[in-house]
Amino acid sequence: MNVGFRNCIIYHVFGMRDYTGEIGITLEKIVEDFILDPKINHVSKEEAADESVVRLELFDKPIIGYASANDELFEKFKTDEKITHGRFIPPREWMEDAKTVISIFVPYSKQVKKGNSRNMREPSKEWLHVRREGKNAIDKLSQHIKEILTQQGYLCIAPGIDDHYEEIIGTWLDINRPLTNSDYGSNWSQRHVAYVTGLGTFGLSKTLITKKGVTGAFTSLITNMEHEPTKRDYQGIYDNCSMCGACINICPVKAITFEGKDYTRCSKFHDEFEIKYGPGNGCGKCQVKVPCENGIPKKNQ
Ligand code: SF4
Ligand code: SF4
Repeated sequence: MNVGFRNCIIYHVFGMRDYTGEIGITLEKIVEDFILDPKINHVSKEEAADESVVRLELFDKPIIGYASANDELFEKFKTDEKITHGRFIPPREWMEDAKTVISIFVPYSKQVKKGNSRNMREPSKEWLHVRREGKNAIDKLSQHIKEILTQQGYLCIAPGIDDHYEEIIGTWLDINRPLTNSDYGSNWSQRHVAYVTGLGTFGLSKTLITKKGVTGAFTSLITNMEHEPTKRDYQGIYDNCSMCGACINICPVKAITFEGKDYTRCSKFHDEFEIKYGPGNGCGKCQVKVPCENGIPKKNQ
């Protein structure tokens, strides 16, 4: 599938001049300024579930990784059924002229993580806000970066907010057979993309363990801007996971084992919260009170 071929001449080196004309601004600074702006990063009085979460800070300082759009791992994700069940669309099929994939990890704030540690079965108010207002903020960030790159003369697609983005959640489907892990996934997996861009590796809980931990949100962009790829300082998909098993013990429905994760079990549990609190709400207990919450755990942790 080709979803985005357009012609363009690259005439700027990104980072020399920003959209306001300022010299020397970097993409890292633009991302940080946008997401940490209190108008984006704080829950307003109107949105807040109660007084205790008015002005709740949602996010911490982001990190960014870059990969070549031609990285062979992208093609592997498409063709290896076991990895993304054949759904993954590589960058060059989203944009024929793609040169670079940019992945952004925005860690959740200390307050959000602490909030979700209070009750190890139900999502906290803080967690619900980061899943709702935080998700909106990440979508706005994707749009913002896309617009800036476009203003700089580059082609840019943010698959997570693109019309061609498809996500499949098995428990929402009308399937007359037992669900399996292959009934879940998307055509652009943010965690797999982040892995390619050097941001981190998977853990047993199937979250991505970055140097800022597992608890946060991802977005990514495909562009014809050239950028040096970030060095991946790992070889294996679980290199950053200490295999401590803490997430196995914490999961309220025992969806995680050393052999793998049962997405149906996890998703069915989330459905309870979807009904109670609205779409997009999950429990996230495997991401708090674990050695990988805030960073890469030591191997003996
Ligand atoms: S809690 Fe332990 S086993 Fe689970 S993902 Fe984190 S480091 Fe890996
Ligand atoms: S999100 Fe919740 S249900 Fe799903 S694996 Fe993590 S702890 Fe278990």
